[in-house]
Amino acid sequence: MRHLDEYRDAGLAKSLLGAISRVADRCERPVTIMEICGSHTQALGRFGIRKLLPRKIRLISGPGCPVCVTSVQDVDVSLFLARLPGVIFTTFGDMLRVPGTGDESLQKLRAAGADIRVVASPLEAVALAERHADREVLFMGIGFETTTPAVAAAIMAARERGIGNLSLFSAHKSVPPAIDALLSDPLLQVDGFLCPGHVSTIIGAEAYRSIPDAGRAAVITGFEPVDILSGILMILEQCRDERYSVEIQYRRGVHREGNRKARQIMMEVFEETDGSWRGLGDIPKSGLALREAYGDFDAHRRFVIPPFDSVEPPGCACGDILRGIRAPDGCPLFGTVCTPQNPVGPCMVSSEGSCSASFRYHE
Ligand code: SF4
Repeated sequence: MRHLDEYRDAGLAKSLLGAISRVADRCERPVTIMEICGSHTQALGRFGIRKLLPRKIRLISGPGCPVCVTSVQDVDVSLFLARLPGVIFTTFGDMLRVPGTGDESLQKLRAAGADIRVVASPLEAVALAERHADREVLFMGIGFETTTPAVAAAIMAARERGIGNLSLFSAHKSVPPAIDALLSDPLLQVDGFLCPGHVSTIIGAEAYRSIPDAGRAAVITGFEPVDILSGILMILEQCRDERYSVEIQYRRGVHREGNRKARQIMMEVFEETDGSWRGLGDIPKSGLALREAYGDFDAHRRFVIPPFDSVEPPGCACGDILRGIRAPDGCPLFGTVCTPQNPVGPCMVSSEGSCSASFRYHE
């Protein structure tokens, strides 16, 4: 606990807030900072950081929640796969409540009798496939570079064990191409990015090079209050000095070069493909598909998946929120029709979603 206390030290947080105010005072205009990690979104709400900052600093959330950025089309595909006879469909917990077209969800499908199971790790899906050799076990993989190496390792393990009844529906995504898409969005005015701590442990700092190249600040930040306030201060200092780079505040977790071994495992199994993001649309090279050598595990090969005319939940502004051009309270359904008990869109489903954080922490 002593280690954690260090990053929750009230005195240190207060002095960082003082420094932030002083630097913000010297900035000629308001500064907008985007966090692109669902865990940061959650921590900002939990520790009440938005309310403590000077008015001149505006924090907005970006596409950092893996559940939220999963496109409605991919949700519809998951519903199709989960309905197939004889299939055991597995995925991570939050995906179950995300609505597809027509308010259908995996949770509703499970209540209606489909064999849908929540797993905490892809290895559980591998074990299920071993135990149920007479069934097809499907794993829907979501998440960024933090999660993908573990999924790759599970697929490698399944191949080593000669498992033939497991397949992966990959909705995995890569963060840097999404940042590039944000940087080229004329509607988005961001001065700096709080870069994701967990993802950066894998991809390192150089993966964010396009941010300073575009004249914006970038700081890889941890998840405790002192981490986040230090990250915000470092961004303000870059903006004040107009000297942009990728700095690492979260040095206890992130090395500049990232984790080469994890990247190697990931790229042994996956290759880049175009990815479909809620709100951001199709982004070149932002998705991860199984390589030919692992094609036998690809759900797209094993099953005939029809095209879907997918439709976003009516009235839901998740797309705009994930692009950073609207705040949760700018959605007319926020807190009335759409609540954590009755979520209309994924940003209210996931604990890492910005609508859920705004609702829970009254931001
Ligand atoms: Fe979507 Fe609900 Fe958020 Fe509105 S409040 S954007 S409906 S998740």
